[in-house]
Amino acid sequence: MKPLTILGAAALCLAASLQAQAPVVTTVLDNGTTASRYDMVILGDGYTAAQQALFDQHVNTFLTGLFQKLPYSIFASYYNVHTVFRASQQSGADRPDENPPIFVNTAYEATYNYGGTDRCLYIQNTSLALADAALAPANEGRVLVMVNDTRYGGCASTFAVSYTGSSMVEVQTHELGHSLGALADEYDYPYGTYTGSEPTQVNATTSPSGQKWSIWWGTDGISAFEGARYYQYGLYRPRNNCLMRALGQPLCRVCQENITKVTNSVADVITSPSPAATSVQVARPNLQPFSFSHFVPAGNGPVIEWLVDGVVQTGAGTTTFTLDSTAVALGAHSVTARITDHSDRVRSDPSQVMVEEHTWQVAVSDPTLAQLRVPTMPGNAVWITPGDTLTVTPTIQNDGPGASGPFEVEFFLGGLVWTPQDTLLGKISVGNLNAGQSVTQVLPLQLPYSMLNQLYLVRAIVDRADVVAESDENDNQRTVGVFGQAGPCVTGLEFQDAFTTPFAAGLSLAAGGVLHPTVVARCANPAATLYLIAWGGSGTSPGFVLGPGVTLPLNPDSYTQVAFDGLNNAVFGGFLGVLDANGVGHATFTLPPSTALVSGTTHFAPLLLGATTLFQDAGNAIELQLVQ
Ligand SMILES: [Zn+2]
Repeated sequence: MKPLTILGAAALCLAASLQAQAPVVTTVLDNGTTASRYDMVILGDGYTAAQQALFDQHVNTFLTGLFQKLPYSIFASYYNVHTVFRASQQSGADRPDENPPIFVNTAYEATYNYGGTDRCLYIQNTSLALADAALAPANEGRVLVMVNDTRYGGCASTFAVSYTGSSMVEVQTHELGHSLGALADEYDYPYGTYTGSEPTQVNATTSPSGQKWSIWWGTDGISAFEGARYYQYGLYRPRNNCLMRALGQPLCRVCQENITKVTNSVADVITSPSPAATSVQVARPNLQPFSFSHFVPAGNGPVIEWLVDGVVQTGAGTTTFTLDSTAVALGAHSVTARITDHSDRVRSDPSQVMVEEHTWQVAVSDPTLAQLRVPTMPGNAVWITPGDTLTVTPTIQNDGPGASGPFEVEFFLGGLVWTPQDTLLGKISVGNLNAGQSVTQVLPLQLPYSMLNQLYLVRAIVDRADVVAESDENDNQRTVGVFGQAGPCVTGLEFQDAFTTPFAAGLSLAAGGVLHPTVVARCANPAATLYLIAWGGSGTSPGFVLGPGVTLPLNPDSYTQVAFDGLNNAVFGGFLGVLDANGVGHATFTLPPSTALVSGTTHFAPLLLGATTLFQDAGNAIELQLVQ
């Protein structure tokens, strides 16, 4: 304690020797956190160091009076008030219009006759006043200045300034109406007839009926009275009298409404939200409680609602709410507390300033679920050629505490982002993985003939159909990069259909369906070559010898005959055709629903036909399963 006392005494001596004191910051009305309240700051000008107690007394008198007036009396708990006292060298304010003129040395250089209006009392050193106001804990509300002078006066712009004589409370509340409430003066002098545009303030209008405040017509004397905002004619005010027109009057309802709305647009009536963090994790089957406090006066009839994912929850109307994690889907949700102030001071609230919300982002998880991923998938090659077999060895692991049940893992060839057009290379079925269990499988994947010289990704996707409920559904892929290269000059055939492997497909006889067998013959001369796709249902070996070194890998049968008879009809579209410039021939097999065909394994195989040598080359067989 002792060293502190010595330090304090030393500081006082220093301050006294400089004839200046640091501004003294005091919170004189503390209703809550600065974040939740409308924080006003009151400065003093024309008070000497010896008059600090007088300043405090003026502030106290003003606040006592202010909070007896509507609407401040209703919303008193919405305000914090801080004072910043900077001592002036002399008392009072400049009176340049008196004879002889009086000039005093004050902190903010307050003066009467500001702008040539004798009773306009305002400060000239606004930059120092702003700097001093910024010393307060918060000043997002208005800054008021009490000027220690008994000559009547006041003015408002950035600051609300008032003298401190007998009408101080009335004058400063009027000035606050300007600076806080953005209100116009309602008195009608010194000018005659107004011819300008519609005023921006809520309490003055060019409309003789006062349409602007029609919602208040008939309440507390609200109508339309000619004479407002310094003009005797052409402008109208809401009420015959109002504090914005004459001292000693209450603020009219139109003025009260705007002050209320400005106050509420700054104040945050929801306090102490629980949980304090806006991001909440809930594990099933837990119940998650939410709560908050608020300071909307009971007399304003506040209504509380709770919303889950934007939907109002019936029966939830208090400051507490419980989310049942088993009653919502797994994943992300929002929980919102909403309180609506139904104060009779406000009738029109398009910006919803009388509604306050607080929202939590809630992630609901199930700690009992499976959690599948592919931790590794090495491949046996980086450089691959069309038709090659690439062997990958994926490990699929269940990290979760729950058993997975059966699921599929699919393998696609594609680009950086998976699309349904990626080529399905194959799939494996996993019967079940228990908690912590994994499975590793060596999987040969035959690559399509249509591959180009470019980078490809081979991508494993676990449970794309979302059959297994997992605690994280976003980590089910693993990729390995491979580079495509030109291969040998082979004649290849493959299916080019979404979710169909290039070399095997199935169709339901009952449902029918469409497939696209595609010939790929990169080295063929497109101008001199036709392609033909043959069909057979009797296996691929030994096949049918067509010429030296050319064997069609099909055993010809009635299927072969049906296809040749129907070349390029509605079923065998493009089965005989011309290769395009890339050496690719596109066919369409359109199987209508059929009861005549029998189920079983069939094959397609391609032939290349030339002008000089009829049978130039034959390609691989691809499998088509017909099922009932
Ligand atoms: Zn008014």
